[in-house]
Amino acid sequence: MTSADSNLPAGLVIPDVLPASALDADTEAFDVVVVGFGIAGGCAALEAARAGARVLLLERAAVHGGTSSMSGGHFYLGGGTAVQQATGHEDSVEAMVDYLMASTKDPDEEKIRAYCEGSVAHFDWLEDLGFEFERSYFPGKAVIQPGTEGLMFTGNEKVWPYREKVAPAPRGHKVPVPGDTEGTRIVMDLLREHVEKEGVEVRYETGATNLVVDGDPDTGRVVGLAWKSFDRTGLVRAGSVVVAAGGFVMNADMVARYTPALGSKLFTLGSTYDDGLGIRLGESVGAALEHMDEPFITAPFYPPSSRCKGIIVNRDGERFVAEDSYHARTSYHVMKQPDAVAYLIVDSEHLGEDHMPLVPLKDGFETIEEMEAGLGMPAGALVRTVTRYNENAARGEDPDFHKHPDWLAPQTAGPWAVLDLSLGVALYAGFTIGGMATTVDGQVRRTDGSVVPGLYAAGACASNIAQDGNGYCSGTQLGEGSFFGRRAGRHAAG
Ligand SMILES: Cc1cc2nc3c(=O)[nH]c(=O)nc-3n(C[C@H](O)[C@H](O)[C@H](O)COP(=O)(O)OP(=O)(O)OC[C@H]3O[C@@H](n4cnc5c(N)ncnc54)[C@H](O)[C@@H]3O)c2cc1C
Repeated sequence: MTSADSNLPAGLVIPDVLPASALDADTEAFDVVVVGFGIAGGCAALEAARAGARVLLLERAAVHGGTSSMSGGHFYLGGGTAVQQATGHEDSVEAMVDYLMASTKDPDEEKIRAYCEGSVAHFDWLEDLGFEFERSYFPGKAVIQPGTEGLMFTGNEKVWPYREKVAPAPRGHKVPVPGDTEGTRIVMDLLREHVEKEGVEVRYETGATNLVVDGDPDTGRVVGLAWKSFDRTGLVRAGSVVVAAGGFVMNADMVARYTPALGSKLFTLGSTYDDGLGIRLGESVGAALEHMDEPFITAPFYPPSSRCKGIIVNRDGERFVAEDSYHARTSYHVMKQPDAVAYLIVDSEHLGEDHMPLVPLKDGFETIEEMEAGLGMPAGALVRTVTRYNENAARGEDPDFHKHPDWLAPQTAGPWAVLDLSLGVALYAGFTIGGMATTVDGQVRRTDGSVVPGLYAAGACASNIAQDGNGYCSGTQLGEGSFFGRRAGRHAAG
């Protein structure tokens, strides 16, 4: 599927591979060329330069940051970070490994172990860039803590069955910027300062377009790349290339092919250049792709936290998920319901005053019987579900979905509100998770498991720890992008 296959939709075209003969004695040369200045590429370039390599960093946009700069600023870190210690939360490498092994769809133990064993040092490395995660803890349920608290639960650690397997610890570390978006910009600005200080040559408005391979494209070594800047094009010779060019949520053709769930009923989260070109560059030299069909999709229905005490049912009036799950896990299960229809039912005592605008109020009802009829559910189904939930909740139990006792409360104080969690009504947003298969050091793998010599991938164009919405913990993308980006940079430099 190269540009020669003219019938392909434009977004699926795989760039041609150029032969090494395209490079000549005058072609400029670097030890490491990094493609993309988001969190993964910035970390890769910095570590490669600190390891002594001559590094070129290409960024297609006019400014550094990519999607990373838009993001809220959760980094999933643990094993006893300074914030965990200061706020009295016990954690260990083993607990973090066990949790990620248990909650990941197809866990790669080598990567998970490396990530957890290196997590405290990585936390310190991030702070050494020049900022400090606040030594404070946010105890509520929120998408992101509203203030600058440094730590909160951002996964399913306290959700059944994980809490029974591993002692829960909060690992969502947030940069000290209030609000839901653009917190990571401070990290990206610091990365830019450090990258420049270490002598990395950064070229903006310059996008990689093709890889150059010495030998057969399916077996040869990546030895350089072609680039384009407005109407200028050029070539660069590279000891190694690190592709850190982001995900593919903005490429409608790739979304249709791999993750149709991220289709028209959703709001896509990403920057312009999340168009999957990095992944297609990898494919041009035989990169295997992993978890491409797994999106991160969410429409959080809290805050206020009290809404987690309500119940979520499908159009048949049946519960299907523990309502205290991380919001992407809840959303993952909504998507699997008939027609992706779901309702959150909360009584007057637990509705709370704040309103989460992403999940609209459908209606209020004086009785559950009226609600059942009003929602067109099978006769008796919702009444049965609510009665059973309330009876069990009164005893602090949830034998059906094992919701944590902290979030159990009978929903008996009418009138009752129905918030519409259905796809197409609630404002679901999402981004892609899958990408190139890589080793623990970021080397790109082919389908037979062998590595593509000279090619590395990191961040949202690579597949590492985050694998699906069911197990996703907020902070994994920035956490693994920075962590494995650093490893890729060091390995590429060596
Ligand atoms: C609103 C929002 C909030 C989020 N919050 C969080 C959070 O709190 N925690 C978390 O872990 N994750 C979060 N995410 C996800 C996370 O931001 C991304 O997964 C992560 O930033 C990806 O980093 P990256 O370095 O791989 O890609 P990016 O940051 O997108 O960087 C890739 C760069 O490559 C450039 N590029 C693309 N193609 C080329 C090319 N051919 N040549 C040169 N350059 C190229 C792009 O312009 C871009 O600058 C959030 C996402 C969004 C949208």
